[in-house]
Amino acid sequence: MKEKTRLVHPPRVSPPDDNPPLVAPLYQSVKFEHDTVADTLRALRGEREGFFYSRSANPTTRQLEQTLAAMQGREDAIVCGSGVGAIAQALLGLLKAGDHVLCFVETYAPTRTLIRRTLARYGVRHTMLSIEDDAGIERVLKGTPTALVIFESPTNPAMRIADIGHITRLARAAGALTLLDNTLAGLHQHGDTDVDLFLHSLTKYASGHGDVMGGAIIGSTALIRRLRPEFILMGGVLDPHAAWLIQRGLKTYLLRYEAQCATAMRVAQFLEAHEQVERVHYPGLARHSRHELAARQMRHFGTVVSFDLRAGAAAGDRLADALKLFAIAASMGSPESLIIPPGLMGPYDLPPELNALSGIAPGTVRLSMGLEDADDLIEDLAQALEVAVAADLT
Ligand SMILES: *Cc1c(COP(=O)(O)O)cnc(C)c1O
Repeated sequence: MKEKTRLVHPPRVSPPDDNPPLVAPLYQSVKFEHDTVADTLRALRGEREGFFYSRSANPTTRQLEQTLAAMQGREDAIVCGSGVGAIAQALLGLLKAGDHVLCFVETYAPTRTLIRRTLARYGVRHTMLSIEDDAGIERVLKGTPTALVIFESPTNPAMRIADIGHITRLARAAGALTLLDNTLAGLHQHGDTDVDLFLHSLTKYASGHGDVMGGAIIGSTALIRRLRPEFILMGGVLDPHAAWLIQRGLKTYLLRYEAQCATAMRVAQFLEAHEQVERVHYPGLARHSRHELAARQMRHFGTVVSFDLRAGAAAGDRLADALKLFAIAASMGSPESLIIPPGLMGPYDLPPELNALSGIAPGTVRLSMGLEDADDLIEDLAQALEVAVAADLT
């Protein structure tokens, strides 16, 4: 072979079968070959194992799919390029014109927009309630034929808790599918419920380091088999390198999540006792309106703590400016602690009567715990609260 040819066809090095790498390799390859046309056709027909093209399947993303399904206590998963990609994919894959969706005011804003604008354009109708409106949920599911219930628990940022058993019982009886965006609760929670499909933004706790985006749809073999063909057509795949980073992040997932929850509890208790704080939104506090339900449904209460300042929205923004350890940044589940102050909480895209149900006050502040020492974070909050409120007095 001449030089150019040799460069394109380098030698292959595979360890022997009894000498595997401890960390799974990254298959950064779009294509996989078979020796013969006949073998290729057999693989494409699913008559033999094998990979062909990474938009359909790749060993690295497949490993992540299997890891996530096992963590969530379901059979299979589809990984996508982002959490929102997973939500859009699930909605488009499950719904058709004329279908009715039950969704909630407290839901992640892009999910609401997908339902209210994009799906509406395709003739999908919806009803939007508060996640705490148990009677309304019963009324809708008993009175209106419904294809899908999409919800979250805890909600972001109000940290409200859905009564998952109530929703799944009524949905099952009505023949509606349930889709739980379980991002805030995490991959190790709610698997023991009767939820049909789970959604996750892997950008948060799964990756855990704030350096990669991804999303997942997790459910039974039958439901994932139903969704996969259109997923392959729409093409929002996760790159193998991103999948490999997320797989790496998952090794410390539980340790990080537990540590961040422990910090969240301490921060929530500190804020609850602070005279400038009107209200703390954290399901781990006994005063939370659904603390007992949360304690029954959850192993951990979450890493996000929201609170309302007595001094209002401007003080919340000053608090963010005065904090040294909490970065003013989107998202959660990073090693760094983060804050979304009132000035960045919107924009509100809902009519005022729905907005009023959302549980977000003008002065609501959202904190997401990182991996710093809890003592340092509390000290930082104490000094910043003093600065934020002192400005009001001058
Ligand atoms: C962040 C988030 C998403 C979106 O995930 P991306 O990876 O940012 O696209 C969806 N749902 C919830 C609850 C989230 O917090």
